Amino acid sequence: MSTAERPTRYIPAMAVSEGAGVTVHRTIGTPALRNFDPFMLLDHFSSDDPDDYIAGFPDHPHRGFNTFTYMLDGRMEHQDSMGNTGNLGPGSAQWMKAASGVIHSEMPKQKDGLMRGFQLWINLPAAHKMDHPEYQEYSAEAFPVVDAGDSRVKVLIGRYADTAAPIVDDITGVLYFDVQVKAGGRFAYALPATHNSLIYVFEGEGQRNDQAVPEHTLIALGSQDHDLDFIAGKRGARFVLISGKPIREPIVQYGPFVMNTREEIEQAMRDFHSNNFVRDRAWVKRDK
Ligand code: FE
Repeated sequence: MSTAERPTRYIPAMAVSEGAGVTVHRTIGTPALRNFDPFMLLDHFSSDDPDDYIAGFPDHPHRGFNTFTYMLDGRMEHQDSMGNTGNLGPGSAQWMKAASGVIHSEMPKQKDGLMRGFQLWINLPAAHKMDHPEYQEYSAEAFPVVDAGDSRVKVLIGRYADTAAPIVDDITGVLYFDVQVKAGGRFAYALPATHNSLIYVFEGEGQRNDQAVPEHTLIALGSQDHDLDFIAGKRGARFVLISGKPIREPIVQYGPFVMNTREEIEQAMRDFHSNNFVRDRAWVKRDK
C-alpha cells in the first residue's frame, strides 16, 4: 500500500453534550480522531442520573451512512417520521441504514435508573449513500454469546470463529463484538488485515503490549497492527471490538449528513428545509 503508515493510537474518551443535552463519552468524531474509515462516530452513553439522559434525542435527520445502536441497560424508543417505531431494551440492538434519508427520534422509555449503551456511525460508499433506508431490530436473545475461556464474546455484527451474528454487513464487512474478560484473563484475536479495527474499554481496565489501557480508552489499531492481545486488570475488563473495511472515498460531513461532495451536502440541506428529505419509507426487519 502506498498510503502513509498510520500508527496505533490510545485515545481517552471526551465528554460531549448531544441531542437535547445528553452527556456521552465520544471517541471517534472528536478533534483527536475525526473519523476512522469507515467509522464516523462512536458514542458511549452511561448514566444513572436521569438529568443526563431524560431529554433524549428528539427528531433529527441522517443521510449517507448506517447507525448501529447497542443498549446495555435501560430502554429507548425509536420513532421515525413515517410511522415506524421500535423499542430497544437491555442487550438489544438496532442496525439502521439511513442511506437516502431518515428523520427519527431516540427517546428514553424510563424516568430513572441506569441507561447505558453505544451508538456507532458506519459510513456508506458513494454507490450506496442514496439506497432505500432499512431497519433491523434484534432483542438481546438474538445475539449469540461464545464462551472463549478467559472471555465471553457477544457477537453483534459479523462472525466470531464459527459463530455468526444475526447482522451481516456486506458493504464494509463490519465486525462488532462485546467482549468481557475475567480478572487477569487474556483475549487474543487476529483482526482482518484489510480492516481498520478498534477496541473501546468501557468497564475495568487492562494492558496491551505493556501499555496500560484505562477505562474509557479507545485503541485505534494502526494500519500494520492487526493482532489484538489484551490482558485484563484486577477488576477484569469489558470492551467493544469494532472492525470494518475502509471505503477510501472523499468525506464531506455536516453534522448528521455524511456525503462525498459539498454539492451533496447542500442538496441534503435543501431537501431537509423543503420537507423533501425522506424519500422512502424504511423497510423493517425484526427478530420477533
Ligand atoms: Fe439518530
